[in-house]
This record gives sequence, C-alpha cells and structure tokens, in this order.
Amino acid sequence: MQLFSHPACLQHDTGPAHAERPARLQAVLDALGNAFPQLAWQQAPRASRGQLLRVHDDALLKMVLDTKAEQLIALDPDTVLSPHSAEAALRAAGAGVAAVDAVMAATRDAAADARRAFCAVRPPGHHATAQVAMGFCLFNNIAVAAAHALDAHGLARVAVVDFDVHHGNGTQAIFANDPRVLYLSSHQMPLYPDTGYESERGVGNVHNAALRPGAGGDAFRGAWRDGLLPVLDDFRPQMILVSAGFDAHRLDPLAQLQVEADDYAWLTRELVGLADRHAQGRIVSMLEGGYDLTALAHSSVAHVGALAA
Ligand SMILES: [Zn+2]
Repeated sequence: MQLFSHPACLQHDTGPAHAERPARLQAVLDALGNAFPQLAWQQAPRASRGQLLRVHDDALLKMVLDTKAEQLIALDPDTVLSPHSAEAALRAAGAGVAAVDAVMAATRDAAADARRAFCAVRPPGHHATAQVAMGFCLFNNIAVAAAHALDAHGLARVAVVDFDVHHGNGTQAIFANDPRVLYLSSHQMPLYPDTGYESERGVGNVHNAALRPGAGGDAFRGAWRDGLLPVLDDFRPQMILVSAGFDAHRLDPLAQLQVEADDYAWLTRELVGLADRHAQGRIVSMLEGGYDLTALAHSSVAHVGALAA
C-alpha cells in the first residue's frame, strides 16, 4: 500500500468557518497513522506545468500559480486562493501523478498491495474543469492523474470511479469526449453542482447514478452493484482511479445521504476485485470531499483498510 501526502496541503487556508478546512486532512492523516502505523508515507512532488496542461488551460494555471495572493482571494463563493494555495494545489495534483508512477512501477514486483495507492491531499479536485476552479477545487487532481496514466504510461483504458456525494462535473467535462476514460459517479441529486443526470453520457463513456436525499447504504450499494460496476467490468480498465469523497456519510453536514464507513469498505473491496481481474491490481485513490471529521476518520480507515488488505 502506497500513501502520499504533503505538509503544504495543510496550509491551503480557506478562511474561518469554511467546510473545506485543514482539520479535514489532519483528521485523515491522524486516523490512518493510528490505524496503520506500519504503512510508510511518501512526500508528494509538485505536478509540473506540462502535467497540468494535459487537462487544464494555461489561463487557469496562471491564475492559480502566478497570482501572488497576499491574503485570501475568493474565486467564487466557495473557492479560495490563499498565500500557500498554489503550493498545496501543486502537491495535491503531484501526489496523483506520483501515485500513478508508483503503482505502474510496482506492477513488476511481487507485492500486490504495492499496486494500490491512496493520496491524502487537499484542495480536492473533481469540480475543477479545464478552465474553471470551482467548488473548493483548484486543479482537477484525479483528471491530472488519469491523463498521466494515458500519456506517460501509454495506457489505453483508465476508469475514474467517483463516490463523492457531489457529482464530479469537472472530471466528466474533461473526459466527456475521450473514450479512453470511463467516468462513473454516484451522487446525491438535487445537490451542487446540479450536474450528473443519468442522461449525461459523454461519448458513451459517462455513467451517472443519482441518489435521492435520504438514501442509505442499500441504495448506494445497489447503484454500484447493479448499475455501475457491471459497466466497469465490461470496460476492462487497465487502472482504476478513485475520487474518494466521504461526504455521502450520514454524519456529513453538506448532504443528506446515509452511507456508513462499512459501505465504503464494501465498494473498495469490489474495486480491488475488479482491478485484480483487469488492471494487474492497479488502483490510485485520491481524497475528495468529506466534512464531518469523525466520519472522515472512520471512512478513510475503512477505505484504506480495504485497499491495503
Ligand atoms: Zn463532495
């Protein structure tokens, strides 16, 4: 099991009373450190401009990286740029790139769980489009990782599995015309960002499962077991990337689903099985949302525990 993070990700300052706060990442790091003291952490490198430009416009890079924020700058009502945000964003995206490299390198050695990686990073990424930082997200970390797997490693089919309670509008938009990427999402509707209708199909490579407010673990598991996982099996991905947001948890303050940590463990075990069948075991998972600290701690331990098994 390969774990990536960077201290800079704790220094992205979103201001007082913002849900996407440094304490989230600290809760995940503390919980994983306590639960899995034997697992070593690797420092995320910075993503390069070239790696970011695979999915983002140069104007967005300039805005995030070259704005010398001396105080907090609100890019929209949710999304903040602070003095340390550029470094955090580079490390968050770089973690995914490094994790892709690591699981590709590990494919040739014997330890199966070395082919699975989790990146504990912030800011999250899946709302960021090619052009726009939004919804707490500056760069689309999982999209940068997927593009790296395609372009640097020559993979022909990669899947992005997004179980964050919000729809990953950015990831879907970035890959909607790229049949090399399968995008699968379960999410609450109605909810921000008001995308993710089941009619949104890309070039046949997008599959959305919308869940009603109040839906619990049975509905969550059913959406994956009966709807999305069979599509993933048919696609035969060479790598599975995971947008691991834990805000579908029943304790989360930003949404109304009733998922439990055990449901995340179940889905993760299913993904491990599919990765073993099609992808030589390769899974790269990246933290997205999750805004209740207790739920984040339990859910991230359940997820990483299933990945490390
Ligand atoms: Zn979310």
